[in-house]
Amino acid sequence: MKRLFYKQVHYKQIDINTASPKAPGASIMVIYTGGTLGMVYDQEGKSLVPFDFEQILEKIPEISRFEFQLRVISFNQLIDSANVTPAHWIALATLIEENYHFYNGFVIIHGTDTMAYSASALSYLLEDLNKPVIFTGAQLPIGAVRTDARENLITALEIAAARRDGRPLVCEVALYFNNQLLRGNRARKVESAHFGAFESRNYPPLAESGIRITYNNAALKPYQPFDTLTVFKKMDTRVAILKLFPGINRNMVEAVLSMPNLRGVVLETYGSGNAPTESWFLDSIKAAIDRDILVYNVSQCFGGTVMQGRYETSKTLQNIGVLSGGDITTEAAMTKMMFLLANIGNNQDIKKQLIRSIRGELT
Ligand code: ASP
Repeated sequence: MKRLFYKQVHYKQIDINTASPKAPGASIMVIYTGGTLGMVYDQEGKSLVPFDFEQILEKIPEISRFEFQLRVISFNQLIDSANVTPAHWIALATLIEENYHFYNGFVIIHGTDTMAYSASALSYLLEDLNKPVIFTGAQLPIGAVRTDARENLITALEIAAARRDGRPLVCEVALYFNNQLLRGNRARKVESAHFGAFESRNYPPLAESGIRITYNNAALKPYQPFDTLTVFKKMDTRVAILKLFPGINRNMVEAVLSMPNLRGVVLETYGSGNAPTESWFLDSIKAAIDRDILVYNVSQCFGGTVMQGRYETSKTLQNIGVLSGGDITTEAAMTKMMFLLANIGNNQDIKKQLIRSIRGELT
């Protein structure tokens, strides 16, 4: 076991014995960050504690039958994903950068609560990614009898290793859960009790697994013959979400918009991008835009798209310079703002990128 670290995130490295031959067809790196998937019952069988990945073969012996090489990088301090920060995203992106040429694919085991944020963030940080980076997790711990961890992990590994004519089938950041492979920046957590925890309402699944795994070639990002991966290592957290609700008051709106150093706001609107037409509200938004704060219109609906100007209640937003997020999710919008604000020099260029797709995050 080797110990490694990146800034405040410390890791250990574990090699898993698989049926891989000496010169394996593929090698996969698993990055284990924490979350429910890796929990087992303690010695008294009472409470759930994070499991040491060295015991993976005891829990999922099927893994030893894989014919590819498997190396696990485990965070020393396993985290509930409620504690994930942009520093973790940058640590993950850096780990992938450093190991990119040594592995055919990457599987990231992550808690489900913020998995859609992390998958979105990684999709932006890894520009021109040409290999699979598959997030997975579970609703029930690996130590539970009816766990979904086994199926989710095994299939995520299989997808990360899947190749045709020597090329990976998946060349993007994706999320595998409950028989579906979703584009990472299109997924959102919709369920905390059932096994189907994630949905992607505005983009079809990239693959579905039944007896076989069926890939949706029309939806997958195509393989690029050139190796031009660029890894970004900055995110700007001077952003906020302002979610509308009937009765929202001026003090709250102004408190959010007058936050010191605020640079961008995701405005969570109703339906196809609608907001109140009261003048105090529109004036506050306009004043923020005049102070160079980017306001990004994202719908509270899970399906469908923002269409500024369709109703009178969104026409003025358009006129005062609110940017349409189209059918982007809040998770993808928030992380996109963090990414663009940190890595693109001026607001004019950021605005152009916000309203179009940069990693397949909006239609
Ligand atoms: N709270 C856990 C987490 O997100 C839930 C899970 O893994 O499903 O880390």
